Amino acid sequence: MVQDKTALITGGGSGIGAATAHLFAANGAKVIIADVDEKGSEKVIKKIKKNKGTAYFIKTDTSKAKDCEKAVKFTLKKFDRLDIAVNNAGIGGAQNTIGDYGVEDWQKVIGINLSGVFYGMHYQLPVMKKQKSGAIVNMASILGQVGSAESSAYVAAKHGVVGLTKNAALEYSKNGIRINAVGPGYIKTPLLTDNLPKEQLKQLVKLHPIGRLGEPEEIAELVMWLCSDRASFVTGAYYNADGGYLAR
Ligand code: NAD
Repeated sequence: MVQDKTALITGGGSGIGAATAHLFAANGAKVIIADVDEKGSEKVIKKIKKNKGTAYFIKTDTSKAKDCEKAVKFTLKKFDRLDIAVNNAGIGGAQNTIGDYGVEDWQKVIGINLSGVFYGMHYQLPVMKKQKSGAIVNMASILGQVGSAESSAYVAAKHGVVGLTKNAALEYSKNGIRINAVGPGYIKTPLLTDNLPKEQLKQLVKLHPIGRLGEPEEIAELVMWLCSDRASFVTGAYYNADGGYLAR
């Protein structure tokens, strides 16, 4: 599905991004991992190389526009083209009611989870426009569609990602570029399991009619399909993979 395509994946050093990097590489894509976490990313790259795949790392803080520009330039230097971008890097952020939500905490989440996606596309889209082809997936969340108390920054950022995705599609679909968003339910990754006590995780399971949390690989499958030519008529869409969370 993605054979010989070049793919820039932000936040590819862990969780959903790492699963996506592995799936892409296993399907013949050449991967660039752009992440703040060098150690985690190198681990992913080592495994990809062991399986005879192609992957490189560039240290990137997606809340910094310059870093996002560098990641695109690095991809072009390595591969000459940018076929696919997965703007996936994100954090959970602080939890508090709006009145008590720290301004710096707000700025941090918005900087990485929303501005990071804008900065990514800001540098990726002109390259793809020149190529007259490309596919972008932006990682939103079920919280791009509904709220979640005490997570205002995350919820606002993810709603913003869905909106940005629609706008990008309106602006660039005529240039042979498809831009879509994915909305996972709660997925077993360090973002979740490192930050929530077991009891809270059990409560979260109850919100998914399927009766369990998701696996990162289950999201990677949807990302790969959206990035492949099999999704040739799909753009500006927001696809959930949420075990039925939003069906309630
Ligand atoms: P994760 O913590 O396992 O992975 C996130 C990766 O992003 C890490 O490698 C981390 O180093 C990287 N990262 C963090 N800040 C960064 C920055 N400023 N610049 C570059 N890289 C940075 O988390 P995950 O669950 O795999 O999350 C991936 C995406 O999926 C996020 O956007 C998250 O909001 C979204 N998501 C996750 C869930 C879930 O339940 N896990 C649900 C819905 C959406």
